[in-house]
Amino acid sequence: MGLIVQKFGGSSVADRECIFRVAERIAERYRAGDQVVAVVSAQGDTTDELLQKAREINEKPSKREMDVLLSTGEQITISLLAMALEKLGYPVISLTGWQLPVLTDRNNGKAKIKSVDPQRLLSELDQNKIVIAAGFQGVNGNHDITTIGRGGSDTSAVALAAVLSADVCEIYTDVDGVYTADPRIVENPVKLRDISYEEMLELASAGANVLHNRAVEMAQKYNVNLEVKSSFQHMAGTTVKEVSLLEKMVIRGVARDNDVARVSAVGLPDEPGRAYKLFHLLAQKNIDVHIILQSIGGNGTKDISFVVSKENLDETLEILQSNRDYIGAREFKFREDVAKVSVVGAGMASNPGVASKIFEALYEEQININMVSTSEIKVSLIVGEEDSEKAVRAIHSKFF
Ligand code: ASP
Ligand code: MG
Repeated sequence: MGLIVQKFGGSSVADRECIFRVAERIAERYRAGDQVVAVVSAQGDTTDELLQKAREINEKPSKREMDVLLSTGEQITISLLAMALEKLGYPVISLTGWQLPVLTDRNNGKAKIKSVDPQRLLSELDQNKIVIAAGFQGVNGNHDITTIGRGGSDTSAVALAAVLSADVCEIYTDVDGVYTADPRIVENPVKLRDISYEEMLELASAGANVLHNRAVEMAQKYNVNLEVKSSFQHMAGTTVKEVSLLEKMVIRGVARDNDVARVSAVGLPDEPGRAYKLFHLLAQKNIDVHIILQSIGGNGTKDISFVVSKENLDETLEILQSNRDYIGAREFKFREDVAKVSVVGAGMASNPGVASKIFEALYEEQININMVSTSEIKVSLIVGEEDSEKAVRAIHSKFF
């Protein structure tokens, strides 16, 4: 008997049939004597539909009102799932983000969770109730509704698991675990039995759409046992934990992220402080920058290129253009039809030749590399978007 947090994503609660399947999953654990908190996402494409609805009214709504709207998606799911469990005869209560409460900062649209008050949760569990909690949403110090970023329900689940010291946080989704590559791109990817937090974090930030990267970060920080499982089939999934010793693989996965754009500041004076001027402007607006590349200067100037997500491209260019004199660039260039391909594995650190194998795979497919960045456990490449799937397949087959 223990305390478990289960998280069900949008596709797992998409319709009536799915909701009852999930209710049954929860009930099974409850019958076995566990205390269960289930965190859920909005049904199916609800969040996208809400975004679309908003756009029909106002192309630039305030982030505050957007959060009021988006949070309704998860509120629908918690009530319906609670009703399903009521129907099956189980004691249950649904709780929104502000009822829990999940306290966040004021950064609407991508708020960070500051704390979760466990009082209400614990008292409901003490009364033998199943708790159904809304993911993705919280409340700020001003009692305003916030959301924590797309795909954020994973992070909500980990936050609750952390504050409750849950035995495990199970992430149920439409895939049955973490694979060495996206099965939609690669024919026979290998399912991983386990993976370390570090590797999972790199894969998640690299665009493997299984887990929200902040969820992995938080799980590592608070030592939450994470398990990725299928909500449709009963089978072992992938465990994310501190160290993984079971499988001796040099690399754990190849991921692709199409949601990137390359930006270049061309003709900067080759002197100290230019990079600072550029990147602190972006940091002030909370814009995440990935790969950064500085070219060797010539004629007293240098170029700096970097990668942002596509949704931040317009804002990035606006910031740069309106601060051109301050930054001192001759011009700014960008390219949208690029993709990031990342190869992740803790075994890289101790196995020479990984990068050369990756480059060989790309050379054989005549794929041109735009940018490269490496860390102890990751190699990321920027390639043309049209080459990205071919690149993933070529690299994957070199290693598996
Ligand atoms: N419903 C939100 C989204 O679609 C949060 C989530 O699903 O995790 O991004
Ligand atoms: Mg979703």
